[in-house]
Amino acid sequence: KTVEEIMRNSDLALYRAKDEGGGEHCQYEPTLHAHAEERRKLEFSLRRALERDEFELHYQPVVDANEETVVSFEALIRWNSEEHGFVRPDKFIALAEDTRLIVPIGAWVLETACLEAVNWPTHVRIAVNVSPIQFQKSNFVSSVLNSIAASGIEPEQLELEITESVFLEGGSGNVEIFNSLKRVGVRLALDDFGTGYSALGYLQKAPFDKIKIDQSFVKGAAEVGSVNAAIVASIVSLAETLGMDTTAEGAETMKELELVRDLGCSHVQGYVYGKPMNVESA
Ligand code: C2E
Ligand code: CA
Ligand code: CA
Repeated sequence: KTVEEIMRNSDLALYRAKDEGGGEHCQYEPTLHAHAEERRKLEFSLRRALERDEFELHYQPVVDANEETVVSFEALIRWNSEEHGFVRPDKFIALAEDTRLIVPIGAWVLETACLEAVNWPTHVRIAVNVSPIQFQKSNFVSSVLNSIAASGIEPEQLELEITESVFLEGGSGNVEIFNSLKRVGVRLALDDFGTGYSALGYLQKAPFDKIKIDQSFVKGAAEVGSVNAAIVASIVSLAETLGMDTTAEGAETMKELELVRDLGCSHVQGYVYGKPMNVESA
């Protein structure tokens, strides 16, 4: 009934259209208001989560496909919120990115993961997910170096997992960041490969050590008539040509494990070997 209400409601419909990727039109519905309200509450709690010490890291093993030894653990963040209970990363990482809270949260993840890894045998690496937003901060490289130095791990023990959206948002500056990290010995992995644009030029531009094949290709790859096996095989041959390792993500069954091993994936990560677990179990 008021101008303010019309403006607010059309704004909510606009956000919805943008969330769906743009090039859309959406109508206002009352549920949009409820979602926005829920998001506002989640953001309010997320702003306090670090100081309240509500985050924890879990670790999932990455296994050498042939030797069956643990080569690294991926650090995966968990949020136990006082107001919202256990919140899945799928639900709060995007919000943390929108609000740029991912910068302090990501720094905490990096520091905590390195401090933990120093207690492990030196041949076991620690893999840390890095959001494109973190790359936009000019001090990103020095914050990585500080985390390494403060913990006492070797730079070669640290692997940063990056999704290809970093190329869409960062431009050529990111390639320089990759090169600086490589010069000190930090390893780089291209995460969720196959889900985005998967422009092959990215592989040429940046010095990745590893391609992580997204779980959507691994799941069901063992079923008859699935084209996923062919996709995995071609990613593996591409990676081998470029001298990169491959990790098949999300292998859950023995069948899937055998298949990705036969297809030549050098590493496997998935429930078949272990779910993300707390630090003591890791
Ligand atoms: P991701 O980097 O692709 O991490 C792998 C996800 O797959 C994890 O979900 C893991 O629990 C799940 N997973 C592993 N093996 C299997 C399997 O065999 N079957 C199934 N169904 N799932 C499996 P999680 O922990 O919920 O994390 C979701 C996403 O949130 C991650 O996807 C990553 O993109 C993001 N994330 C998690 N921690 C961080 C972090 O510290 N920083 C940033 N920037 N993102 C993070
Ligand atoms: Ca990852
Ligand atoms: Ca992934």
